[in-house]
Amino acid sequence: MEFKYVIVGAGLAGLTMAERIANELKEKVLVIEKRGHIGGNIYDSYNDDGILIHNYGPHIFHTNDSGVYEYLSEFTKWNDFWHRVLTYVDGNLVPMPITVETINKLYNLNLDCSQVEKFLKKQAVEIEEIKTSKDVALSKVGKDIYEKIFETYTRKQWGIDPSELDTSVISRIPIRLNRDTRYFNDKYQGMPSHGYTRMCERMTANKNIKIMLQTDYKEVIDQLDYKTLIYTGSADEFYQYKYGRLSYRSINFVFETHDKSEYQEAPVVNYPNDYDFTRITEYKKLTNQKNDKTTIGKEFPASEGEPYYPFPTKECKAQFALYEEEMKEEENVIFIGRLAEYRYYNMDAVVRRALDAFENLKKSHSSCGGELIG
Ligand code: FAD
Ligand code: UDP
Repeated sequence: MEFKYVIVGAGLAGLTMAERIANELKEKVLVIEKRGHIGGNIYDSYNDDGILIHNYGPHIFHTNDSGVYEYLSEFTKWNDFWHRVLTYVDGNLVPMPITVETINKLYNLNLDCSQVEKFLKKQAVEIEEIKTSKDVALSKVGKDIYEKIFETYTRKQWGIDPSELDTSVISRIPIRLNRDTRYFNDKYQGMPSHGYTRMCERMTANKNIKIMLQTDYKEVIDQLDYKTLIYTGSADEFYQYKYGRLSYRSINFVFETHDKSEYQEAPVVNYPNDYDFTRITEYKKLTNQKNDKTTIGKEFPASEGEPYYPFPTKECKAQFALYEEEMKEEENVIFIGRLAEYRYYNMDAVVRRALDAFENLKKSHSSCGGELIG
């Protein structure tokens, strides 16, 4: 079988590349996916009660990158959605991320914005060099809030102490000295009106794109003739684990349907200090679907299972760097995505990465009169 381009993985990285190659270069492309569906971790589906769930945990699209927003908007309309999260601390539900409301509720105060700023300055621990996620939190909010909101959640989520995780993890959560209780404040936010899977189906609706599901690429790759491989699977797997297995954090998603129309006050409620799960998502509150029943998803972090989160520690990054050196030497393989680049990418960053990789690919395509080099 001959395809100029073969893509491993039908997640957002792989599908963005497939769409661009098929629609702009008008070339044939084969996508090989080991799961039984496209979409990778953004896959969503209707459960037995007809409720749309995100099979791999809650996905909220948010970005400041207008190019990415416009690109995905070619394949979906968006429902207006401003994500909100509450976190359960000391018997109260308080808004996340930390805002003026959070501080007032946590300490039973009635401070205004500037008073909260002073309050947090007083709490903050002075740290000479911020090296870890624990340093990030302590330096912004001090010991008490760190212990109430970040310490145990992070230990549950990652299985290690925040002092062992690099700064990028807790830095994802802003501290707001205002009353904006939205989880993200990016310019564009929304949920695809008919779901992520539908969006992915529309991205791949081109006869130049062939998708082979339930196939590990290793089973077929030797029988394929191709010029460029776009690889979005795990880097260690590509190199037969020669530098050892990279660590990933996994999650067991447990879904429950309740015979009532509403389960909780917000789309997501975090449980930093209680239970073994980190958070509960109520899907109807993300999608705005109407149904007499409601489905929730609990997330139980695990060290074994599907690789969801690359591990942001010094040791893991050093181990990945060994694979990265080898990856740089590959002439006809493009590595992109959360697994291949071992990066904690959000959806918008993955699409941006794929669009940029495509632009590079296009240059080499056109500089050889339509033929690819190497
Ligand atoms: P993936 O989606 O992992 O796709 C890789 C694909 O490659 C998979 O389908 C896999 O099966 C396939 N594959 C791997 N190995 C092989 C092989 N050997 N042969 C064939 N196929 C193979 N981002 C946001 O912007 N907002 C959010 O709210 C958000 N929430 C998230 C919540 C959770 C719980 C998780 C885990 C992630 C979340 N993300 C969120 C991140 C988002 O899921 C990723 O940015 C995006 O899905 C990455 O796409 P990808 O194509 O790089 O990887
Ligand atoms: N976090 C926390 N308490 C919370 C929410 C998040 O300590 O209530 C930390 C935790 O370490 C988590 C990180 O902040 O892994 C990033 O949170 P985010 O909500 O972005 O996680 P994701 O949606 O990527 O799982």
